[in-house]
Amino acid sequence: MVTKGDLEFDTVVVGAGVAGLAAARLLIQRGQRTVVLEKSRGVGGRMAARRLAGQSFDNGAHFFSVAGETFGKELQRWQSKDIAKLWIQDGDRRLYAGLPSMNALAKELAEEVDVERQQLVSTLTIEDGVVILRCDNGQKWRARKVLFTAPLPQSLAILKRSNLDLESELLDELARVSYEPCLSLLLRLKADIGLAAPGFLKGVSEKLDTITDARQKGTSSQPGLIVHSTAAFAEANYEKDRPVLEQMMIAAVKELYPVEIEESYLHKWRYAHRKGEGVGRLFAEAKSLPLYFAGDSFGIAKIEGAYDSGAAAAEAILRA
Ligand SMILES: Cc1cc2nc3c(=O)[nH]c(=O)nc-3n(C[C@H](O)[C@H](O)[C@H](O)COP(=O)(O)OP(=O)(O)OC[C@H]3O[C@@H](n4cnc5c(N)ncnc54)[C@H](O)[C@@H]3O)c2cc1C
Repeated sequence: MVTKGDLEFDTVVVGAGVAGLAAARLLIQRGQRTVVLEKSRGVGGRMAARRLAGQSFDNGAHFFSVAGETFGKELQRWQSKDIAKLWIQDGDRRLYAGLPSMNALAKELAEEVDVERQQLVSTLTIEDGVVILRCDNGQKWRARKVLFTAPLPQSLAILKRSNLDLESELLDELARVSYEPCLSLLLRLKADIGLAAPGFLKGVSEKLDTITDARQKGTSSQPGLIVHSTAAFAEANYEKDRPVLEQMMIAAVKELYPVEIEESYLHKWRYAHRKGEGVGRLFAEAKSLPLYFAGDSFGIAKIEGAYDSGAAAAEAILRA
């Protein structure tokens, strides 16, 4: 029996975040045989959500903005399908939310894409112009080209394990990109805490960066909060166990609001937000190997930036 591992794909995309999905969608629409390998059980990467008592809580990115025409067309499509809405308008600044969560947008992008889940790409070799990717579950995948879309420290770790070297100028450029962590606390509450509309606070305290009221945002019909730590708080405490961090985050919320908690969940994001400028262009391409790099390590470190990066890398792959 022929398995997908025996097939030779035009392109394997590593990572089913918005960058990988935008790229794969474009490649498939242009007739390229493409598969996305994703280490997690779901798609979306940092556009993640978790359900608490049947209600959706955004666990990673909580809103998105739109500047360019291409991403604007995606917004129009999402709005026509009732999976995106304008959440906050402040002068010219418009912030949109996914419905019932940001993850719904990634799922929509993935509709026509072949995503192979629970495929943690571990190493790769290149034999006679064919890239062979090996996953930690023993599965192998073959492709003419590979597009990496994870944060660059994760993508470069795969190359390092594989003893594959990019040209030193490119490697130096990509290795400069680093990320800061974030702790994301989801709280289902007995009662609302009475945040003023639109239910979003930024720069809350030394420990907490944002607090979002899930009910005002429209993703939960029950009282709930999404709380993100500051990068400094996450960095200082990241190695502690999850239950310890959860209690520390809850204590930080209780310093400010007398919350009565029904249920809580904490997620540790090691690569949450890019530090500094990142790689100035939209994607990168190795000169000597059929390897491409995209994601929010490039351009603007936001959902739209990651989308644009994936799309630009796909165009380059189509031109090659
Ligand atoms: C807490 C938090 C809040 C945020 N808030 C906002 C916001 O409000 N607005 C905004 O615009 N942006 C926000 N962001 C940033 C935004 O989420 C990212 O910029 C964007 O989602 C990045 O998409 P990406 O596809 O580049 O990367 P990712 O979403 O990280 O996707 C990379 C994918 O690669 C997979 N992967 C990694 N290694 C491997 C491997 N070896 N094998 C297979 N798969 C692998 C990962 O599982 C992941 O699915 C936030 C991020 C976080 C964490």
